[in-house]
Amino acid sequence: MLLVLVEQTGGVASDPSLQTLTLARSFGEPIHALVIGSAVDLSHHGVAVTHVAVHDELDSFAPDAWAAILGQLADRLGAGAVFAAGTDRGNDVMARVAARMRLPLATNCIAVAPGPPVTLTRQRWGGSLLEEARLHSARALITVAPHSVPIEPARAETRVERFTPQLKEQELVVHVAEHVSTKGGGVSLAEAKVVVSGGRGVGSKEGFAIIEDLAGLLGAAVGCSRVVTSAGWRPHTDQVGQTGTKIAPELYIACGISGATQHMAGCKAAKRILAINSDAEAPIMLNADYAVVGDLKEIVPAISAELRKRK
Ligand SMILES: Cc1cc2nc3c(=O)[nH]c(=O)nc-3n(C[C@H](O)[C@H](O)[C@H](O)COP(=O)(O)OP(=O)(O)OC[C@H]3O[C@@H](n4cnc5c(N)ncnc54)[C@H](O)[C@@H]3O)c2cc1C
Repeated sequence: MLLVLVEQTGGVASDPSLQTLTLARSFGEPIHALVIGSAVDLSHHGVAVTHVAVHDELDSFAPDAWAAILGQLADRLGAGAVFAAGTDRGNDVMARVAARMRLPLATNCIAVAPGPPVTLTRQRWGGSLLEEARLHSARALITVAPHSVPIEPARAETRVERFTPQLKEQELVVHVAEHVSTKGGGVSLAEAKVVVSGGRGVGSKEGFAIIEDLAGLLGAAVGCSRVVTSAGWRPHTDQVGQTGTKIAPELYIACGISGATQHMAGCKAAKRILAINSDAEAPIMLNADYAVVGDLKEIVPAISAELRKRK
């Protein structure tokens, strides 16, 4: 029996969690899922039982409390393996579960096979290296690299079981106290279908006006490289990359971005990449599906003008 932590927003499971369910099914069955707060319909994702943890103090993310609940449930069910998405939250919670259980944790896996020992393929160095590993453990603790596995639906008769977890006061000390919206409710970078990103080539904070304009016309989110956040032109929440957000849009438009490995680690799951760069030899050209070689200050407004004409 496998237990999978499923992250959700407003009763809808996150894509990385659905990808995790797909990979977990290749490892074994039956699959039990844990969701915290409101129930999620997982009957199209091969889940036999959805456990819904409901607690008055759990209206916001509290990593110690989530780890306690996941650990207690794994013990109660005798789970042979516990999975979570390799998101910030998933890795945070699973690291705490591993510390509590004194077991090893394999993070950012893209393929798994049951053992013993369990064999895994893991992403390392922001995905630029794949590691083949063996996990010697009484209970496999695994996180799945986001956007590395396509979601495959599987019908199942899902039973839903609600329960109230027993939590200690100290497990609720670390929790999300407040949500601050930085974009006035715009499209979230992690989930956007189109992302328009700017790098050093944009030249200044004010230079992002043309990037924002194009993003607005496409209903896209604005992203950027680390040079841009380091210069204070954009907030860190906009950064795409190894130390920023990992995205998987249908289209990624990279303007004035060279395509350093650490940047590509965050956008290589994009279905299509359009690079706009004055340097035809820039490394991003090797990863781009489409490229425009030229000055972004001319090309980006020209694309926006064309889109306006067609609206
Ligand atoms: C541990 C570590 C973690 C890192 N994490 C990240 C990360 O998460 N995300 C990230 O982005 N980086 C990260 N970096 C930094 C990364 O290595 C690069 O330095 C950075 O991505 C470069 O940003 P850039 O492409 O905007 O700038 P540059 O590399 O300077 O490239 C600018 C590009 O703009 C083009 N250009 C200039 N003017 C124009 C114009 N007018 N029109 C069109 N094109 C133009 C140039 O030809 C060039 O290709 C990390 C580095 C380290 C060491």
